[in-house]
Amino acid sequence: MSTYGTRLLSKGMQGADVEELQIRLAGFRGTLPDGEFGPGTELQVAKFQVDVMGRSAPSGIADSSTLKAIDSFADQFLIDFSRLKCRCGMCDGFGQGKFRGKYLGNRKTEEFHLYEYPGIHRMLLWAVRAAHFYMPKHPFTFSSGYRCSVNNQQNHRNTTNHCGKAVDLDIKPKPGETRQDDVLKCREVRGKLVELSNAQIGWEARNRKSLEPDSMAPTWVHYDVRSYEAKYLDDRYFCKDLVTLNARTPILF
Ligand SMILES: [Zn+2]
Ligand SMILES: [Zn+2]
Repeated sequence: MSTYGTRLLSKGMQGADVEELQIRLAGFRGTLPDGEFGPGTELQVAKFQVDVMGRSAPSGIADSSTLKAIDSFADQFLIDFSRLKCRCGMCDGFGQGKFRGKYLGNRKTEEFHLYEYPGIHRMLLWAVRAAHFYMPKHPFTFSSGYRCSVNNQQNHRNTTNHCGKAVDLDIKPKPGETRQDDVLKCREVRGKLVELSNAQIGWEARNRKSLEPDSMAPTWVHYDVRSYEAKYLDDRYFCKDLVTLNARTPILF
């Protein structure tokens, strides 16, 4: 009934298509995929209309031209899944679905959840698109994507974020740039993602995209969805390829 692309979306509406809109606009202020079109979603739509579509009087209503502009935005910022795949040589690139509900040590929080999620969270990748859009001067590449339990073992690592909930962005240095230049650029990027995409540095607030502080990630930008509640980390939010990330459906109204 509420297939994305079959109706205009505005404040007060709800449904699977609203959820899909919230996912796609994850990098524009950002909210949760709760399927309720409230003031947060309206703000997201308005930001997209001003920043991407260049509208001076945004309506905050996801009309057909807005949905089409979101499709074009996706096509402009393709995500290179070959760079996101796990390099362990044992899994298909996105883990083997092992360890759901298993935790490292005694604390049953997402930080220690060992589950190999089935791909990378779609909201995170849509948010990366916005990072590309807002910061064209920084040629981002993925320096780290999926790292399954085998990969962790191979590298004597015990962190679990990169089992689908995190990506690392690296900025290619320009000739003559020092490590300190890189550190400053990464700081600037974090500031922009807090300002424009509603991310946080650290993990204290729930349901916000997170960035590792520069004490942990000085010369790269680690971006993750670890602080999302379990219901927003459901398997259906994860993708292994561009087609599933885009979930393209025709705009029919
Ligand atoms: Zn692997
Ligand atoms: Zn990382």
